Amino acid sequence: VEEMMVRSEKMSVAGQLAAGVAHEIRNPLTSIKGFLQLLQAGVNRKEVYYKIMIDEIEKMEKITSELLYISKPLTDQKEEELVDEMIEDVVKLLKSQAKLKNITIKHVQSENATITCDRSQIKQVLLNLIKNAIEAMEENGVIQVIVQEVNNKIRVDVIDEGPGISEEVIHKLGEPFFTTKQNGTGLGLMITKQILDRHNATLDIIQNSSKGSTFRIKFK
Ligand code: ADP
Ligand code: MG
Repeated sequence: VEEMMVRSEKMSVAGQLAAGVAHEIRNPLTSIKGFLQLLQAGVNRKEVYYKIMIDEIEKMEKITSELLYISKPLTDQKEEELVDEMIEDVVKLLKSQAKLKNITIKHVQSENATITCDRSQIKQVLLNLIKNAIEAMEENGVIQVIVQEVNNKIRVDVIDEGPGISEEVIHKLGEPFFTTKQNGTGLGLMITKQILDRHNATLDIIQNSSKGSTFRIKFK
């Protein structure tokens, strides 16, 4: 009985995801079709319509590539990895995006801290969290990425100076397709949670007393 329950729960997650995908893809398709019909009828302002259609197609592209990532077979290649090294790799990738908003990413290292993990998956997690931090912030400010060892366990805090997260939004984080952004997919935190589950790690979200939020990864 237990096994069946587990399986039917899994099905409903898949169903939920499928419904979400259908919805997320149908809306841009409907809008593209509408604009193509207008163009077919021979309207002016073609450039505007092309721009909207390209934006809609880009949205679908983003969603499908994130879904492909989720659907990859779970061949965890776990090895002992230096945490600070993975963070450095990700910070390099995000530097130019941060610079555009004059945001500094400050990495506080914990020398020689290692975890046993799938390197590319944990880098994906760090990328999602730091990217969200950049996107949450206005121009100027600092994002801190702090690695610490607490009671023999490795902890990574990603601390931003954004607006923080309301009660209402906190409960929806990690739900597929939940986003408050114009160009968001709402898949980042879902992927993040899945990866951390597979690594026996947890994600805590803490409201900073001053400003912004902290996303805390705790490895076991
Ligand atoms: P996306 O980034 O595509 O919107 P995510 O799953 O990464 O999808 O995030 C979901 C939502 O969680 C975001 O749209 C935003 O509302 C909220 N969120 C995530 N990180 C932060 C953060 N650091 N500060 C404020 N809100 C955040
Ligand atoms: Mg995101």
